[in-house]
Amino acid sequence: MTAAATAAAVMTAGAAPDAPALAQARELQRSYAIGRGVFAAPALLHAVGGISFALPAGRTLAVVGESGCGKSTLGRVVALLEPPTGGALTLDGVDVAGATPAQQRALRKSVQMVFQNPYGSLNPRKKIGAILEAPLAINTALDRADRAARARAMLARVGLRPEHYERYPHMFSGGQRQRIAIARALMIEPALVVADEPVSALDVSVQAQVLNLLADLQRELGVAYLFISHDLAVVRYLAHDVLVMYLGLAVEQGPKAAIFEAPLHPYTRALLAATPTLDGPPRQRVLLGGELPSPLAPPAGCVFSTRCPHAIDRCRVERPAPRALAGRDVACHLAEKFLDSGG
Ligand code: SF4
Repeated sequence: MTAAATAAAVMTAGAAPDAPALAQARELQRSYAIGRGVFAAPALLHAVGGISFALPAGRTLAVVGESGCGKSTLGRVVALLEPPTGGALTLDGVDVAGATPAQQRALRKSVQMVFQNPYGSLNPRKKIGAILEAPLAINTALDRADRAARARAMLARVGLRPEHYERYPHMFSGGQRQRIAIARALMIEPALVVADEPVSALDVSVQAQVLNLLADLQRELGVAYLFISHDLAVVRYLAHDVLVMYLGLAVEQGPKAAIFEAPLHPYTRALLAATPTLDGPPRQRVLLGGELPSPLAPPAGCVFSTRCPHAIDRCRVERPAPRALAGRDVACHLAEKFLDSGG
């Protein structure tokens, strides 16, 4: 089995194995040519170096990792805001690269995005009603009255009041603005919402309310989420499956329970050790030294080898391929060492 097939197979196994994938990535890549001056050839930055996953309808796949790991780039590619530079992305059975113009229009409606900053993502000059109705005006043949009725219904659905229809974004709190951004994303009934750090700019108490809203909307509407976050406490609440990214690659991915209860990759273990737990004994502290290496010059072997406390000589020369182990996919030569050792 190829690395791509292995990765795809294991991630599908992690997320409701019998459900057809709404979004499927196979060795998905996104690279950028970075200029290095007049006389030097551009360098290639592999922001996403080959990610595979299968996300069924109505499920949440959380993508976690440090800032700069490529998770937001992956989100933009899946949201069709950037084209992939390699691999394949299938949405609702349609290969994005080979889609006809009509299919592309349908795909753009089926995937919407919610951004981190609810202050910057809403047009300050437009009233909330107009903001919510804009996607309907562009994508549907509904008349003005029907658009307004749908906007008002969506306001109620996300926990806002009817009078908010006539107000401007600056008149709302951060949590309310993110509710509006979520409402806007859902106006044309997408099958998939890519949410990039949607609660990280909010106070902790407000985070819980917005996460509850996202969970309720998923139950009501059957929408799938690709949920991007650096915060494992948030991921634990919302995700069904987890994909841990490091330097553009998936180092561990599978069902949330497997990843949180018994992480096998040293990077996942370090991330989890830094996350407070509300129940159970404190985790054994795993120190994660150093900084994320530059994606322009990734380590030759395992991408985590420069920071891994368990690295051996083999790690520095041979990149571990993702492989199935204990109900998830893990890319580590020594993953067996951490079986039965808990988080
Ligand atoms: Fe650490 Fe080696 Fe595993 Fe990479 S392959 S995570 S360096 S033990």
